Formats: sequence, C-alpha cells, structure tokens
Amino acid sequence: MPHVFEAAPTGRAKCRGCGRPIGKGELRFGERIPNPFAEGETTLWFHPLCAAYKRPEAMLETFAQAPAGIVPDPGALERAARGNSTHRRLPRIDGAEHAPSSQAKCHSCHEPISRGAWRIRLVFYEEGRFNPAGFVHLACRAAYFEGADILAPLLHFSTDLSDEERAELVRTCGDAADAPPRQQS
Ligand SMILES: [Zn+2]
Ligand SMILES: [Zn+2]
Repeated sequence: MPHVFEAAPTGRAKCRGCGRPIGKGELRFGERIPNPFAEGETTLWFHPLCAAYKRPEAMLETFAQAPAGIVPDPGALERAARGNSTHRRLPRIDGAEHAPSSQAKCHSCHEPISRGAWRIRLVFYEEGRFNPAGFVHLACRAAYFEGADILAPLLHFSTDLSDEERAELVRTCGDAADAPPRQQS
C-alpha cells in the first residue's frame, strides 16, 4: 500500500515525529512500512510537517499522489521536505534544550556539553522508530549539519521551550556560527 494523506478519524493516534496527539479531523500523513514484528505492513502516523522534516523522502514520494486540495499548504510542506532531504543529518533534529547535566558529549566536537548550554537533541530512524541518538552543541550546528539552515525544524520540534527560550534560540541561530561573542557596552 502506498503512503497516505487523510483526515484523522479519531484523536487517539500520536505523531511519531513529535510525540503529540494528532487531533480528530486533522490532516495526517501515514507512512506504510513493512511490519518489523509481524507479517504485512504497519503505518506510522505523523503531523504532515513532522513527516516533512523527519521522513522527507517518504513525504516527497507521496506528494504527487495526494488528492487535490487535501493538503492545505502543499508548497510549504514540500519546501520543508526538500530542505531536510538535502542532507542526511537534518532529519535527525529533534529539538533544542538546555543541557540538564554535563554528562553528554557532543557528537560533533566530542567535548562535554556543559550544564545549561544549548544542545540539539538527535534521533536516528530505524525500523519504524526514532531512537534517541545523543546531542550536539548548538554552537557546533554548522560543523555537524554542514552549514545547512536548521532553525525551522529546530523550532518545530522544540515544543517544550518557553517563548523567551525560543526567542533566544532564534537570536543565537541568526548569529554567524563563528562570530566572536558580542561585547556588552
Ligand atoms: Zn508531530
Ligand atoms: Zn560540540
């Protein structure tokens, strides 16, 4: 069976991409995959934008076959999927947070991420699951993602941040990665 766009018949399914419920009647994207545990296929449900960022190839495959008019802003969705399909690491972005401890090491520079520093959560997709796969310093984003623009998916999956924290993230990502710290006058 091909992947599918459809209105969610109930509000019970959670999005695989962000972990939040998909509301009844909301548009959802279903990726059909071989069932890793049994015969046949299983469907992974997503908010469309969550799928565009985390499963861009599946989304792009399906895009042309979506019934006309069912996707409210197909251009935005396609841009998000094309953007995240340009680099194999971009679909790993699972949001940003302040490190709660200094235990994790950065996957880019291999130095510890100090407590309180911004870090990017990474997930690896494997057989229908998104498994936690460590962190990179926010400051290492250009090295790890090879200069790709990550702000939109980063904000999209940072659902637990306050407005102030989101604003700080936008400011930080707007600064050149190699710029010296700004002087306070
Ligand atoms: Zn979602
Ligand atoms: Zn680093």
